Amino acid sequence: MHFSALPTLIMSRIPSQCAVCRSWPSTPVCHACMARFGQPRRRCRTCALELPEQVTTPATQPQRTQCSRCLRQPFGLDACFAALPYAFPWSELVSRYKFDNQTGWASFMASTLLRQPAVRDFLSQLTPQDWLLPLPLSAERLAWRGFNQAWELTRALQRQSACRARADTSLLLRIRHTRPQSELKRSARLDNLRDAFGVAPLRAAELTGRRVVLVDDVMTSGASLLTAASVLRQAGARHVGAVVLTRTAPT
Ligand SMILES: [Zn+2]
Ligand SMILES: [Zn+2]
Repeated sequence: MHFSALPTLIMSRIPSQCAVCRSWPSTPVCHACMARFGQPRRRCRTCALELPEQVTTPATQPQRTQCSRCLRQPFGLDACFAALPYAFPWSELVSRYKFDNQTGWASFMASTLLRQPAVRDFLSQLTPQDWLLPLPLSAERLAWRGFNQAWELTRALQRQSACRARADTSLLLRIRHTRPQSELKRSARLDNLRDAFGVAPLRAAELTGRRVVLVDDVMTSGASLLTAASVLRQAGARHVGAVVLTRTAPT
């Protein structure tokens, strides 16, 4: 190893330093950086896209809760929550920790989501018969990466909230290895995912009439979540929502 790589490596191993500005002492991201980059924003309740700033409306007019796209055409998720924009510094941090399993980061992801009362309410409504399911990686990608960041987030959400739903990694499966979605144009993404997900053989009955919340670290077009949601509905799930750490901006 070259010596110049050492300070960065050592710093990245110390959980009590801000990963953005390197200031001490703090949890993975310090209060100042959270205040600067992590303010909650109003988002569409079904696709979690940021909603435009509300022009002052008369008090009699209800606030819009959905984006114009979801109002035109139902999105395929019953509810969707995101905590942070998939932009600097969050996109870099998500990538950095994708290959570096740190419990401090999972706990940070969960607590950032749970700062939102709507997320806490949503998760607390689930019963012990409902499911909290990480978006699965293919066996190939899991073997290469070593762990699934979405599963670490799922477990941290369960630990830190009043959520009573069961968390499981073997109910929803990635049955086909696909090219990374980021390499593909939007139109090719759904095709790439056809038959990518499946419910574990003989376990569909466990989904009948249940609510499912999918958990992931990044949501871009939403194609993976929508494909997984449709597989879960076909298996009998009654309500499918999603909780994601980061969401890309509207295009
Ligand atoms: Zn900081
Ligand atoms: Zn929407």
